[in-house]
Amino acid sequence: ALTLSRKAQEVKPSSTLAITAKAKELKAQGIDVVGFGAGEPDFNTPENINNAAIKAIHDGFTKYTPAAGIEELKKAICTKFANFNKLQYQPNQIVISNGGKHSLTNIFTAILNPEDEVIIPAPFWLSYPEIIKLSGGVPVVVRCDKTQNYKLTAKQLEEACTEKTKAVILNTPNNPTGMVYSKEELQAIAEVVVKKDIYVIADEMYENLIYGEDVHVSIGSLGEEIYKRTITCSGVAKSYAMTGWRIGYTGSSVEIAKLMGSIQSHQTSNPNSIAQKATVEALTGPQKTVEVMKYEFNKRREYMYDRLSKMPLIDTVEPTGAFYCFIDISNLLNKSYKGEKVETVSKLAAILIDDYNVAVIPCADFGFDDHIRLSYAISLEQIQKGLDRIEKFINDLA
Ligand code: PLP
Repeated sequence: ALTLSRKAQEVKPSSTLAITAKAKELKAQGIDVVGFGAGEPDFNTPENINNAAIKAIHDGFTKYTPAAGIEELKKAICTKFANFNKLQYQPNQIVISNGGKHSLTNIFTAILNPEDEVIIPAPFWLSYPEIIKLSGGVPVVVRCDKTQNYKLTAKQLEEACTEKTKAVILNTPNNPTGMVYSKEELQAIAEVVVKKDIYVIADEMYENLIYGEDVHVSIGSLGEEIYKRTITCSGVAKSYAMTGWRIGYTGSSVEIAKLMGSIQSHQTSNPNSIAQKATVEALTGPQKTVEVMKYEFNKRREYMYDRLSKMPLIDTVEPTGAFYCFIDISNLLNKSYKGEKVETVSKLAAILIDDYNVAVIPCADFGFDDHIRLSYAISLEQIQKGLDRIEKFINDLA
């Protein structure tokens, strides 16, 4: 019979992309929409990186490469891991893929057997459960409340582990919360990971985007035992404004890297050859533009957090990483708008886009159905205009 894959049918389409599409549609109709949905920097890819790609094309570097990526880039990644993350990897421990999402897909395909459980601290980036399900695993969500700055504690991890637990996924700096795990917090979690003998998937996609006093710590750098159990995942999308280039990479044991390389060799082959050359330049070239972007993000972060913390009824913990503010809107859900209860976060987001022309991300699919996420990867002028509108909406509620 003409039935379809159960696994495929269980996957939810990405709601962040849906909101972004709606905002684009309204903009195309000439409506002045402020889009707080963006999961990508609004800056152009730095010119030195673009030029490296153009040179690659002119040099004829446009053929297949080794499936797990070119040696030159693997070496550049090893140097970055050593200097920035204090992680010692050799090139045969590196796999370069078509973006961070693809790296995560490879990781879970390489480590999961049917019914293996993966612990996901909530709030989480909405793709984790779907990627895990597609890889045959079972996502186990552990709620991390505002009172704990939305971060997983070692105790929670220990309590969530079962016979079937294979891995835990840890994302710092975090999407959607903007929180950053401290060394002490990671050390405590690492102890549990070693004791329970599971893997930790360290998603460090936003590692360069940390503001203020916090510093980025890679959990895999905290000792030999945790290193063996860590698969570190990063990429150039967010740090170098290279979302469209699609390059992500992992550092892992040689054994896991080999498996991921084999998987990739059949499913997608090498990541784009030109983008690999561009990534070599991103990682080894001047880092000045990263600092400039970070400086701009920080200005916007400070402005956004300041405004949000002065608004009535909503609550935000100060974010120190990535480019998101995560907002508790539970006090708005029992209010009325035009005589009707707001009730759900998706209804709230619909009112905001339809009547106030502001696109926000309702976080039900991030594991928190009474929070929204605002991105500050848009200009200060846009942020100001959008926050004025949100403030008006809050004041219009009865
Ligand atoms: N990890 C996190 C936490 C993310 O937010 C994203 C992108 O939104 C990714 C991984 C994947 O990045 P990409 O596939 O664009 O490299």
